[in-house]
Amino acid sequence: MANTSLRKSESVRHLVFIFGDQLSERLSALNDFSKAEDRIVMAEVDGEATRHWCHKSRLLFFFSAMRHFRDRLLKSGYPLDYHELSDSPSNDTYHDFDEFFGATIESLKPRRVVITEPGDWLVQSKLEQVCARHKVPLEIREDPHYYCSIDQFRIWSQNKKSLVLEHFYRWIRQQHHLLLDSSGKPEGGQWNYDKENRQSFGKRGPGPTVAVASFKPDGLTRTVMRMVEQRFAKHPGSTEAFAYPVTREDAWQAVEDFIEHRLPQFGDYQDAMWTDTDFLNHSRLSAVLNVHLIEPREVVDAAIAAYQSGRAQLNSVEGFVRQVVGWREFVRGIYWTKMPRYLQRNELQCQDRDVPQAYWDGETDMNCIREAMKPVLKHAYAHHIQRLMVLGLYAQLLGVHPRKFHEWHMAMYVDAVDWVSLPNTLGMSQYGDGGIVGTKPYCASGNYIDRMSNYCQACRFDPKTIVGERACPVTIMYWDFLKRHEPRFSSNGRMLFQIKNLQKKSVEELSQIRCAAERLLSES
Ligand code: SF4
Repeated sequence: MANTSLRKSESVRHLVFIFGDQLSERLSALNDFSKAEDRIVMAEVDGEATRHWCHKSRLLFFFSAMRHFRDRLLKSGYPLDYHELSDSPSNDTYHDFDEFFGATIESLKPRRVVITEPGDWLVQSKLEQVCARHKVPLEIREDPHYYCSIDQFRIWSQNKKSLVLEHFYRWIRQQHHLLLDSSGKPEGGQWNYDKENRQSFGKRGPGPTVAVASFKPDGLTRTVMRMVEQRFAKHPGSTEAFAYPVTREDAWQAVEDFIEHRLPQFGDYQDAMWTDTDFLNHSRLSAVLNVHLIEPREVVDAAIAAYQSGRAQLNSVEGFVRQVVGWREFVRGIYWTKMPRYLQRNELQCQDRDVPQAYWDGETDMNCIREAMKPVLKHAYAHHIQRLMVLGLYAQLLGVHPRKFHEWHMAMYVDAVDWVSLPNTLGMSQYGDGGIVGTKPYCASGNYIDRMSNYCQACRFDPKTIVGERACPVTIMYWDFLKRHEPRFSSNGRMLFQIKNLQKKSVEELSQIRCAAERLLSES
């Protein structure tokens, strides 16, 4: 479908901006929408597509899902203007959101601009400025997609010395009576089955797994694919294997597929990794959740129903509920109550180091990085333990600047939206926030990767070795990281075991580690 052009009107009451991560007809900005008096606008803009050097599949996912949603709204009779990106920037009418917001308001002269809380502080800030400049009121409506509103989170977090996920998680489960028995106690007697979520596959590997539901690109997706391949030819990744759901119907099919085929095994092997496996038992639902094609309540209710009917074990279902209801809502609260200063946090005082080149092309001798990068390049995806304990871990050990790591993550993952990416990368993964999201850094040596995967078996390095040709870069950088930050971590009770082990190293070993680390840092 060609661009629907902005039509001048004297009578626009509400101008409703819908962003690319808000693809739901249940959007609060559409409550009380009058098809006679109001107008919806949506836009693909170059500035957003290139703010981070986005993976082609990420661009394809957002634009295709947006255009499918546009068509859905048009079919339902909504008056809507949509700005499509063309094959070439020289044909664009607008280059960024500021321009688009300003031109739209100028043209339609609405009495009020209405949005649902967006997923990006900067986008909201730009719209606030444009509305102020044009002297038009901006109404930002709460997003009922989430279990916990930003105000509720603010109240919950007030006067707390530290924000503990587990406390938040229990509170939100109580608020919404999730996985509780009739007396209000947690199902099975425990709130959290995390200890039962950490099995490795052992020598036998994961065995046969049912392939994830894949969705063949339709005509509209193929059109977007051609545009992305042409216009963003130099961007990383590929669209060849693109099979993501881009409509609500397909997203729901993906939910059912996960509940039936992977949820039963999800709990035991949440933290396991294995060569040449892209998704294992992970849901791969984060992308469709983060653009609102499905609601968290829908997936949580479906998972709990699977437990209640005996189709999935409690440790699997609780682990999944914890991710969606606990972690996802917790980081959103942190983002909106700490921005914009949160973006500037750099607790470990990292220099301006960027991610290694292998994070863009996967080319390295380190088998763990190579394996973790395979699904990233192919699908703009890696499951959480590859992100946290391989790619995030090594970036942290190298001293990559946490903001640069976040920018890389925003570029390379199909499910990355600022509110969810920033606390996960800068906070949890890189410890850039100094303990707001997690009370200790997620740091480990190559031995952890060896225990949780078969990656080290096919690697030219040895996770236990710190000198010579086979010295493992992860292990070297792990000890060097601890040594560099020893004074800071010595006062963190959760790091004492690791610091004690560091202090058992001889002066000679520490000197060898420093030399090897210097070499790795100069090569990265
Ligand atoms: Fe990664 Fe080291 Fe294992 Fe190689 S030996 S896969 S570099 S942890």
